[in-house]
Parts: sequence; structure tokens; C-alpha cells
Amino acid sequence: MRDNNDNKLLEGRYRSLLQNSSDAISVLDEHGRIIFESSQKNRITEFEKNELIGHPIFEIVHPEDKDDVIDTFNYVMDNPNIEIKKEYRSLHKNKRWIYVESIFLNKLDNKDISGIVVNSRDISERKRAELKERVYHNNLIFLSNSALDLLGLSDKDDIYKYIATRLHEYLENSIIIVCSYNESKKSFTIEKTSGFGRIKSVLFARTRKMEYEIEFPIIEEINNEIFTGRLITLNPGEFEEWPLLGFSLEDFNFFKEKVEINKIYNISLARHNKILGNVTIITTHKSIIKFKHIIETFLHQVSVALHRSHLEGELINAKERAEESDKLKSAFLANMSHEIRTPMNGILGFAELLKDENISPGNRKKYIEIIDNNGKMLINLIDDIIDFSKIEAGQVKIIKKDFSLNSLLQQVHSSFLTENLINNKSKVKLRMRKSLSNDSCYINSDPNRLRQILTNLVGNAFKFTDDGYIEFGYRIVDSVMIEFYVKDSGIGIAQEKIDQIFNRFIQADSSSTRKYGGSGLGLAISRGFVEILGGKMWAESEEGKGSTFYFTAPYKPVKGAEEEINKPTKKKQYNWNNKKILIAEDDKFSFKFLEGFLRQTNVNVIHAENGKRAVDLCSEDQEIDLVLMDIQMPEMNGYEATALIKQTKKELPIIAQTANAIIEEREKCFEAGCDDFVTKPVNIQELYSKIDKYLTKKG
Ligand code: ADP
Repeated sequence: MRDNNDNKLLEGRYRSLLQNSSDAISVLDEHGRIIFESSQKNRITEFEKNELIGHPIFEIVHPEDKDDVIDTFNYVMDNPNIEIKKEYRSLHKNKRWIYVESIFLNKLDNKDISGIVVNSRDISERKRAELKERVYHNNLIFLSNSALDLLGLSDKDDIYKYIATRLHEYLENSIIIVCSYNESKKSFTIEKTSGFGRIKSVLFARTRKMEYEIEFPIIEEINNEIFTGRLITLNPGEFEEWPLLGFSLEDFNFFKEKVEINKIYNISLARHNKILGNVTIITTHKSIIKFKHIIETFLHQVSVALHRSHLEGELINAKERAEESDKLKSAFLANMSHEIRTPMNGILGFAELLKDENISPGNRKKYIEIIDNNGKMLINLIDDIIDFSKIEAGQVKIIKKDFSLNSLLQQVHSSFLTENLINNKSKVKLRMRKSLSNDSCYINSDPNRLRQILTNLVGNAFKFTDDGYIEFGYRIVDSVMIEFYVKDSGIGIAQEKIDQIFNRFIQADSSSTRKYGGSGLGLAISRGFVEILGGKMWAESEEGKGSTFYFTAPYKPVKGAEEEINKPTKKKQYNWNNKKILIAEDDKFSFKFLEGFLRQTNVNVIHAENGKRAVDLCSEDQEIDLVLMDIQMPEMNGYEATALIKQTKKELPIIAQTANAIIEEREKCFEAGCDDFVTKPVNIQELYSKIDKYLTKKG
């Protein structure tokens, strides 16, 4: 009796324990059907006992987990008394899925139980935390991997591709469109897409363009609010068209029919307030707003990589430019050294030969001519270098005056005719075309610079033409510009070189075996002058047929008499036997040179070896009729000496000797009070003619 009572007590306690346990305990038969529930209402799923009894437990298991649970059940069936733990999703009475952890135990052989015991508890809370943890972890991995990957990418195309594939992997069911930005055109170009699937070819076929050909402009009112570098949700309905992607409304509607659009998001790629590109994300299912920060951070990393790629590109360009310019400079130096050495060798070599007293007068004359020619070549080269440096330094002065354009052309023509005779280029005909009459051809411009440009172009034409013709001239374009041209039937220039030859140091043929000499500066100087004068210079050419060089200058017609522009001088005999000339010259040889020539006119020559001495002599000697003043002298230079002399002897003519290249120097001479100038090396006929002008005036 006592035992019976004890058993009842125990049974009651067990029942009460079972009913109050927080776990749900069910017993299944060998088919998995529920045959016992520990409480009236399942503690976890909250289904009533009678709703469960007789139903297989698998009915309330999530379809994706069902196979797993069946496997576990079968295993337990085969292995009595072994506990197996299983996590799965189970249906809750309120139609949600909850996470459950069940321990399955086969107690079929226990006659009190005779079934499979399933002890279950709700682990949804833990699962949710785990899931959150996993998302967090995945995001971290996504960002850190991207950061590493992007470090290794420097090519822009690779970066665009990376954005498209990576975002598509990260955001399932989304379409990604990556665009680059063109700063100067203010437009975007689609660079890469992903997620379009089969619709892509149909869509792009409709636009009749490849994706990378689709270019669309920034639309201020829309884009301004979009380019914040933040993820922005766009409502597709809000837009008349799909301006961000350059598709027409029709294309967009077509697209909408094919793909169920959930949302469109946009995020600009920007760095330091500069737009670098744009990414559009179209989702077909879920919102991606919960990944907003991750997407923003990812695209921020991308922007940094794009910016870096841009900087790297600039660096590489700068490096290449530096290398190119280095190469050019070396070529220039080699060339220059050749150009200087050739005439130098000529001068030194023939000077050496002249030392031999036994050479015939004929040979002596020939040697002197060679030295003379080589000296002129050197002077020209030095002039070029000085001119070029001045252009580079922005120190070219333009001295404009009124003059006859036709006379200027005539001078260039005459000087080349003479030179041709000397250089044996008589096979080449030189023609000149003037489009204005001699009366109406007066203009205001810088005649010296224009002459220099024309001389250079005609000189080049002769250099590169062995027979045929050279023609030069001008025409007036639209009454505002003069267009000069120099045309030749020479060797021509290869198309790919035409633009380059205007760059300094560039020659169409830069090989060491080239046939034609030159510094490669002439055209750079000419173009420099043309631009300073307000015009343009260009060339047209066909290899083997010839070239035409053009340049323009503003056309400013003037009325009035022509100012003298260095009229050519004729050989004439002079006799100034009753005159006295003071030569102020510190260089002994230059003095001897001038003295030698002046003596031939029977003039009386006296010498001052510096500026100060010249001033003294002028005040001591009242018979001096004219002074030839060198500019660069020790103690007192030519400008100062001239100014001092002119203070007391305003009427005494002073002719300065200046360096040929420096036009500004001539202007300075006039400012100091000089009456005229001759350029060094002195052209004796020109000097005679100038001296004569003053001596006869005075006398
Ligand atoms: P260079 O002193 O070397 O002649 P330029 O600047 O005057 O320098 O000319 C540069 C190059 O342009 C020349 O070396 C030559 O290759 C080409 N060139 C210039 N003018 C002509 C021309 N009339 N015909 C053919 N080539 C020319």
C-alpha cells in the first residue's frame, strides 16, 4: 500500500515536472508521428496537443530543413539510446518560422515510453544573434578583402570591372551599372554592367550601341542632388526618362516590362569634391538600404583607388614627358655640338693653313672665304639660340612700325637670289607673289620679325629643295589677316612629322646619318614669333612632292611713306681723305679689321680702346667727324660713352656696332643717342654707305 502511494506521488511529480518544463517533450512512433506531448499546448510551437497528435513531426519542419531532420530521425531509429542533437526551423502556430534545437533519443525498447523522445527548445534568440554576427563578419570580410584587392588594381577598367562583379556578388538579385566621368565633356559613359542577364543583349541592341558607347551628360538639376557620394534611393516613376543612364524613356519602359524593378539606387564616385564616376544599383527583390553603409564604404574605397589610378596615370605621363624631353635635349646637344664643331673646325683648320706664308694669293682668298662662311654659320646658330631662349623666357620685344610689305618681300627675294648664286642653287627657281599694289601695301607690324620668319622659311625651302621652284608671297584674308606662304617642290615631310617639326629641337630626320644640317630651332623660333605677333603657323606637305608653310599676322593697313628697311647696298668707291673717324673698340683685331677697310677710303682713323677714352678724345679733338662706337667695352660701355659725348657734341654722328641678333640692343643705342648702327660682323659695304651718309651730310 505504502509502495503504491509512493509511486503515485512520484508519477504526479514527474507529470508536473514535464508539464512545467520550459522544453517541449514529444514522443514519436516509428514513422515519426507524434504520439505524446508533454503539455496541453506545445511550449515552443504553441500548437494544441490535439493539433499535433497523429501528425508526423516533419509536417511542421521548414521545407529546406526537412531532409536533414528525416535523416536524423532515421539515424536515431537505427541507433537506440544514442542522443542526437539537431537544429532546424519549425512552424509556429502564428505562422512564423522559429529556430528549434531538438535532442532525438530512441526509447522504442523501453516499454514505459515505447517511442522516440524529442526534447525541443526555442533557440531563435541565439540564432538571430548568430545571424547578426555572421552578417557583420561577412561585411567585415567583404570590406577588408575589397580594400586589399583594390590596392592591387591600378588600371581603371579593372577597377570598373571589380565594382560591377563585387557588388553583384554582395547584393544578390541586383543589376549594377558602373560609369566613368569625363570632366571636360561633363558626361558619363557606361563602363561595366553586371546582373542584366539575358536582357542585356536585347536592351543594348535596342539602343544600337555597345555599353561602353553609351554616353550621357550631367543633368544639373538632377545630378546636383545626386552627387553627394551617398547612396540615394530613386523612385523610377519620378523620372520622365532615365537620365542617369542615357537610355530613352522607351528603352526604360521596355526594360521595366522585362525586369521587375524594386528600387533604383544611385551613388556617385567622388574624391576631394571631384566626380570620378557613378554607380547605379537596380534591385529586383529586396531593398538594400540596410547595406547602405557597407556600400558607401566600399565605393569610398573604390573612389580612393580610382583617384590613385588617375594620379598614377599623371605621374607616368609626367615621367614619360620628362624622359622624352631628356632625350630631345641629349639629341639637341649632340646636334648642337655637331653644328658648332663643323664651322669651328673649318675656321681653325683654314686659319692654320693661312699661317703658311708661301700659299698662293688664290688659295689665300679661298681660305678666307671659307673662314668667312663658317663664321657666318656660327653667328646664325648663336642668333637662333638667343632668339629661342628669348621666346622661352617671354622676353621677345616687338617693335612695330609702318612699312611697305612689298619692299620687305623684295628684300627677302633679293637676298636669296644673291645667296643662290653663291650656293649654286640656280637649279631652283625663286618666285614671289605680292597681292597688294605697291601703293596700298603699307602696313603696321614688326618688319624685322616678319623678315626673319620669311627668311627662315625660304631658307628651309632652299635647304630641302634640289630642283624645281620655291614660291613665296601673301594674301589678305577677310580684310583682317595677312596669310603668308612659302611653297617648295622639295623633299616634303611625312604626315606624322608635320606637327612635330614646329617643336623645338625636332627634325623630321633625326638620324645621325641625316643629310641636312640644322639645329631644329628655326621653325620653333618662327612659330614663336608668329604667335607673339598674333598669328598662327602651320604646314601642308606631301612626301617627295614638296611642302607649303603658312603663317598669318594681323593686317593693319596704313597710309604713308615707307620707312627705310635696310636697303641693300651697292659696291661704291669712297674717298674721305679730309675726314677723321674715331673707332671706339676694345678688341684689337676688330679694330685692325675696321681700320684696314677704312684706310682704303683715305680717311684719317684714330683709336680709343674703351668708352672713357672715346669721351676724352671727342672733347680734346675737335676734328673728329664721326665715331664708330662698339657697345661692349671695359671701363665705360658704348651707351654711356655715347650719352656723354652727345651732351656736348649733339651734332657729332655716332654709329654703334651691335650684336646682330639683339634688336632691343639697337633700340637702346638710339635711346643713348646713337644716330645709326651696324651689326656685327660688320658688312663693310653697309658701313661705308652709312658713314658716307653722315660725312656727306656734314660736309
Ligand atoms: P633645322 O634647323 O633643323 O632646319 P627647323 O626647325 O627649321 O630646324 O626645321 C625642322 C625640321 O623640319 C627640319 O629638320 C626638316 O626635317 C623639316 N623641314 C622644315 N622645312 C622643310 C621643308 N621646306 N621641306 C622639308 N622639310 C622641312
